[in-house]
Amino acid sequence: ERKQLYRLRREPARTLDGVDIKLYANAESREDVAEAHALGAAGIGLYRTEFLFLQRNELPDEEEQFRAYRDVVLGMTGRVVTIRTLDLGADKADRTGLVLSGEPNPALGLRGVRLSLSRADLFETQLRAIVRASGYGPVRILVPMVSGREEMVSVRRLLKRVIRDVRSAGHEIAEQIPLGAMIEVPAAAIALPGFIGAIDFISVGTNDLVQYLLAADRNNDALADLYSPLHPAVLRLLHTVIRTAHMRGKPVAVCGEMAGDALFTPLLLALGLAEFSLHPATLLEVRKAVREADLADLRKRSSALLRARDREAIERWMAMTTASP
Ligand code: PEP
Ligand code: MG
Repeated sequence: ERKQLYRLRREPARTLDGVDIKLYANAESREDVAEAHALGAAGIGLYRTEFLFLQRNELPDEEEQFRAYRDVVLGMTGRVVTIRTLDLGADKADRTGLVLSGEPNPALGLRGVRLSLSRADLFETQLRAIVRASGYGPVRILVPMVSGREEMVSVRRLLKRVIRDVRSAGHEIAEQIPLGAMIEVPAAAIALPGFIGAIDFISVGTNDLVQYLLAADRNNDALADLYSPLHPAVLRLLHTVIRTAHMRGKPVAVCGEMAGDALFTPLLLALGLAEFSLHPATLLEVRKAVREADLADLRKRSSALLRARDREAIERWMAMTTASP
C-alpha cells in the first residue's frame, strides 16, 4: 500500500469530478523542504522560522536568515515559498532574551506579530532577509497571531519601507511579494471582512484557532477530547472565513494539523477549501483522499454538515462520506 501511495507523488491532486486542489507543504527544516519537493507539493504553504531562533544564545543576523530562506526558495525550484515571520512566545523556550519569560498566560501573551511589532528592529531584520530571498524565486510573507486590521497595516507599512531600502541597496528582488495573515485568533476570523482588503492571502491556523475558540489549551492532555476541530462553532467559522476569502478573490488555505489528516479532507472540501498546507509526511494520503472525493457531491452535502449540532452529528456526516463509493 505504501508503494501504491508513493506512485501518487507524480499525480495531480484532482478530485473525481476534475477540480484541482492545491496541496502545499508545511516545513521547518531542510529535510522537510526536500521531501515536499520530491512528493510534488505545490509549494511551501508554511515555513516556520522559529527554529532559527531556538536553542542558541544569540539572535540570527540578517545574513544567516537570508541564507536559510534563500536555500528554501532554491530548494523549491520556482514553486512558491510562504515564509512565516517569527512566531515565538513564552510558550516556546528561547535563550536569546527576546521572549519575556514568566508571562502568566503565554498563549495569550506577547507572541507572534505582537512580539515582532514590539521589536521593530528585529522584525525589520527578518523582513529584509525574506525580501532578499525573493530574488531567488517566488516568496510570500505570512504573519502569525494577527488579531485585526491595525497589525496588518503596520506590517504592510514596514514591509514597504524594507522593500524600498533593499532595492535601493542594489539587491534584485521579486516584483511582487504577497503579504498574508494567519487566521488563528477568533477576533481576526470574525473581523476578516473589514481587513481582507489589506491582505493578499490567508492561511487558517486551526491549531490555535481551535484552542482560542474553545478556550482549550492545545497542549493540555486533560482537554484532549474537547480540543477538536469537530465542533459546530469551528466548522461554521471555517466556512465563513473560506467564503469571505473566495468572495474577495483571495487565496485561502488551512495550515493547521487538521489539513494533514486525510479523515478531515472530505469535510474541508465540503466547506469550500481548495488549498491545504500540511506536513510532507501525510501529503500523499491527503492527495489520495482528494482524488477519491466527489466535490459536487460534497458541496451538496455541506449544508447538512453546517447544520450538525454536535460532534456526534459531525462524525455521522463524516462516516457517510467514507462509506460512499
Ligand atoms: C496553527 O496554529 O494552526 C499553526 C499552523 O501554527 P502553529 O502550530 O505553529 O502555532
Ligand atoms: Mg499558530
